[in-house]
Amino acid sequence: MATGLSELEKRALDLIREEKGILQSILWKRLGLDSREGSRLVLRLVRKGLVKREQVSIDGRRTYKLYPVEARGRDQGLLVSLDLVLDIPCMTCPHFRECGNHEFYTPSNCSRLEEWLNRLVARRRSRQRREHL
Ligand code: SF4
Repeated sequence: MATGLSELEKRALDLIREEKGILQSILWKRLGLDSREGSRLVLRLVRKGLVKREQVSIDGRRTYKLYPVEARGRDQGLLVSLDLVLDIPCMTCPHFRECGNHEFYTPSNCSRLEEWLNRLVARRRSRQRREHL
C-alpha cells in the first residue's frame, strides 16, 4: 500500500483500482462522502498523479470517470505502479539526503533496500506461480 496517503485516499485508490475505472459519484457514495468532500479527495489523488479523470456524459449530464494511473517501465513492458514507487524505503529513510553512489549510505550496500527488493521479487514469483496453476 502506498505511503504518504491518508486512509481515505488509500480506500479511494483501492476502489478505483478494483473497479478499473469508476464514476466519481459512485466512488463518493461508496466512501460516504458528499460531493464537496469527494471532489477534494479526487483532486488530491489527481495532483499526486495516482488517478486520472476522463469526462463522460451520463443521461446528458457531464461527470468524470476515474482511472488508476500506472506507468510502464522501459524494460520488457514491466508494469510499475506509483503505489509501488511510493513504497520504496528511500521515501521514508532518514539518510535519504546523505545517500549516494560514493557515500557512506549507498543503495548498492543498503539492507533496507535489499530486503524491500527481495520481498518484491518473492511476491512477484508467488503471483506467477499462482497464475500458472
Ligand atoms: S538506499 Fe537505503 S540508505 Fe539510501 S535512501 Fe534508500 S533506504 Fe536510505
